[in-house]
Amino acid sequence: MAQPTARDAVRAVAENHGACLRPVQLRRINSETGEFDQVLIPCGATLASICPPCAERAKQLRAAQCREGWHLDTEPIPPAPQPDEVQAMWIEHRAQAQAERDHAARADQNTAELDELIAELDRELRRSGLRGNADPGRPRLRRQRSTRRRQDAPDLPRRKISPHTIGKTYTAPNGKTFRPSMFLTLTCPSYGKVGEDGTPAEPGSYDYQRAVRDVLPFAALFDRFIQNLRRVLGYDVQYFATIEPQKRLAPHVHIAIRGTVSRAELRQIIAATYHQVWWPPTDKVRFDGDHLPMWHEPTGRYLDPVIGELLTEWDDALDAIGPGDDPMHVARFGVKFDAQGVLAESKDSARCIGYLTKYLTKQLGYCHHPDTDAQREHEHRLAEALRFEPCAPTCANWLRYGIQPKNPQPGLVPGACKGKAHRRDHLGYAGRRVLVSRKWSGKTLADHRGDRKAWLTEMLGLPATDPASYRWEAVQPGDEDYLPPARRLLHAVADRLHWEQALTEARRRARDALADELSATGRAA
Ligand SMILES: [Zn+2]
Ligand SMILES: [Zn+2]
Repeated sequence: MAQPTARDAVRAVAENHGACLRPVQLRRINSETGEFDQVLIPCGATLASICPPCAERAKQLRAAQCREGWHLDTEPIPPAPQPDEVQAMWIEHRAQAQAERDHAARADQNTAELDELIAELDRELRRSGLRGNADPGRPRLRRQRSTRRRQDAPDLPRRKISPHTIGKTYTAPNGKTFRPSMFLTLTCPSYGKVGEDGTPAEPGSYDYQRAVRDVLPFAALFDRFIQNLRRVLGYDVQYFATIEPQKRLAPHVHIAIRGTVSRAELRQIIAATYHQVWWPPTDKVRFDGDHLPMWHEPTGRYLDPVIGELLTEWDDALDAIGPGDDPMHVARFGVKFDAQGVLAESKDSARCIGYLTKYLTKQLGYCHHPDTDAQREHEHRLAEALRFEPCAPTCANWLRYGIQPKNPQPGLVPGACKGKAHRRDHLGYAGRRVLVSRKWSGKTLADHRGDRKAWLTEMLGLPATDPASYRWEAVQPGDEDYLPPARRLLHAVADRLHWEQALTEARRRARDALADELSATGRAA
């Protein structure tokens, strides 16, 4: 029993050599000759719980992307304008909503809700910084919230945003010029005193509700911060940011920005940055335990089983929020922040990139493992607070407060919403972990991946293959050439060993060639 099983040993060896643990088998067919061969493609997982070697590679790729953009001293060649990740996410939602709406319209169904959803998505798209309209022909939305600044947030100097993306250059007394960049960490506010282990000193007074309400719109709040930062600095500041949990399980965001901002300005921008959540109030619980709203098939709505009335429509509940009402929540960053200047190629720069990408191979909820009872209890109380907090207009939890969720479906149960934000591994944050601005490195992640491939191909002196001359096919379990997973893993290890040897050999050749050249130069001199 002391010996590992052969299967586990293969996995361990594969992992040590960076071979994918779940390779995908493809058949590569030469379009001209019809010849084919087997190719194993890495699974490409980004989480170490699925495939550690692929997750490590994905993390390295992010590190390369971060490194390349941080200290650029020339404007990146503007890519064909690409939406950033937040914008892309909203566009995807918008496209799906439009398809659903048009489908409903063709089937002569009521499209009011989908229209409303589309209006809201358009609002998010504008907020994310996109100009114009995804569908210019559509009529305007009907609900308008005041855009007046909150009285409790200080005014910011507003400069016109110039389109350049490179920070200032400084000249040292010795004439040397340098262009510093920055590493920032923004945190959530305090919800109560916490100890070293991240657990509250007084769990009873720790503000779990506020903690949860700040994390749900965290990506939107970050977006506001960037808009304000650009306005204050007066140029199109670029960023590479990752969202991670602190020990107290509140998120914080590490941001690499190109250029610098003073601590005083930063303090001011943080104080002036907020995100208002205009949702119906949730201070009164109307349905709880066994007393829950019932699905009413003929109307496609939920009703109060005791009085037999339909619950308030989502739209009506939103309309009921008057001009004198407060938002349900105002999310803000904490006053504590960290900021340090970082110079290109410095030790600090490498260290910060390590920080920025450290936890990317883990889900938020698994970055810190609870070891003590206090930590487990803290995690549990946070999960409980998240359980009944509405995560989105469509959240099942609205039923608890007597409101029809947007686009209601049968089977919704308050406290059992399927939204990502409620899941334990997400800690309330359902957005993307890495947020990169459009002109960071001037490249997409696919471009960075291509760079690495090109470097390998050149290093190994491989002939460039024309992708157009091949066709790819998935190999199915019934096929004659199908490799079962265990055999596939052996092949993946063999492939990896082969590459490692070839690379070592290529490196040795390059070193020898350099030594020859140097000794030849030496003899000539
Ligand atoms: Zn893999
Ligand atoms: Zn939900």
